[in-house]
Amino acid sequence: MAEKEFGLNDIVQMKKPHPCGENRWKIIRMGADIRIKCEGCGHSVMIPRREFTKKLKKVLEKAPATTEAE
Ligand SMILES: [Zn+2]
Repeated sequence: MAEKEFGLNDIVQMKKPHPCGENRWKIIRMGADIRIKCEGCGHSVMIPRREFTKKLKKVLEKAPATTEAE
């Protein structure tokens, strides 16, 4: 297992910044695909989890633990 741990609502940095110049992304959906939203311009992209973990540089901010009860 990699050391990279990420979860919903975490702020992450990717290896390549968004073309808008921002390199802070918020994880807004977890699953087989990860959806991240650029904190600069609000654009969101969906990336397969495997690709996401490859492109992830580091987690900048961990979101407070949330209860997943629904
Ligand atoms: Zn952007």
